[in-house]
Amino acid sequence: MKITFLGTGTSYGVPVIGCECEVCRSSSSRNKRLRSSLLITIDSKNILIDTTPDIRAQLLKTKIKHLDAILFTHYHADHILGLDDVRIFNRIQKTSIPCFALKNTIDTIKTIFEYAFNPNTPEGGGLPQLTLNIVKDSFDLFGTQITPVPILHGNLSIIGFKWKNFAYVTDCSFMPEDSKKLLYKINTLVLNGLRYRPHSTHYSISESLDVIKQIQPKRAYLTHISHDVDHENLKINLPDNVKIAYDRLTFKIND
Ligand SMILES: [Zn+2]
Ligand SMILES: [Zn+2]
Ligand SMILES: [Zn+2]
Repeated sequence: MKITFLGTGTSYGVPVIGCECEVCRSSSSRNKRLRSSLLITIDSKNILIDTTPDIRAQLLKTKIKHLDAILFTHYHADHILGLDDVRIFNRIQKTSIPCFALKNTIDTIKTIFEYAFNPNTPEGGGLPQLTLNIVKDSFDLFGTQITPVPILHGNLSIIGFKWKNFAYVTDCSFMPEDSKKLLYKINTLVLNGLRYRPHSTHYSISESLDVIKQIQPKRAYLTHISHDVDHENLKINLPDNVKIAYDRLTFKIND
């Protein structure tokens, strides 16, 4: 199983348009964060989590040649607005792409991308062809089981995704005990850590570190990070098993 971070930034991305702060002006590639998205490759199948507004640049930079499935954590703009760009894979692969999400995310996708599901839309430049599947419980994808991890994002119920040894959880502001149990002592956990100050709908860095301490993963990566966080400054203050994810960070883990 190969993990590639396509983006690790919060909804504005980093640098933030119009911002002159130190992190936004930094020349370090570690401080340049496209919107949060992850690619998982299992047995040569490419599974994308979330389709950000930066998707085209992300897929070009990682030289992805095919896309086999898409998982959505939730329906916010920074997680779905790039969906139209997957139509190139429909053209290349000549098949529909299976998508998995909660019902409210699927309903929002059908509203925002109405033209893609409307049989009366003229075909012209090509339309995304998507097979939408509602996630209610664990499901099998390409012979591997994926379990949704229920969390709260402010008042909104959303999901992360767990494989046997790996889980991706972003945009979390509250994790129920059952979800912590589900992730307990997992090999690799990705969890959002927005900034140092508290935020109403995202874990701050210290809240995220608290939850990581409770879950006790072998290693954890922070993602969905704002321009308040300088990579090197945060790095020196993290526990040994916690790292900061950055764009195009890639590693392998045993399935
Ligand atoms: Zn987000
Ligand atoms: Zn800034
Ligand atoms: Zn969100």
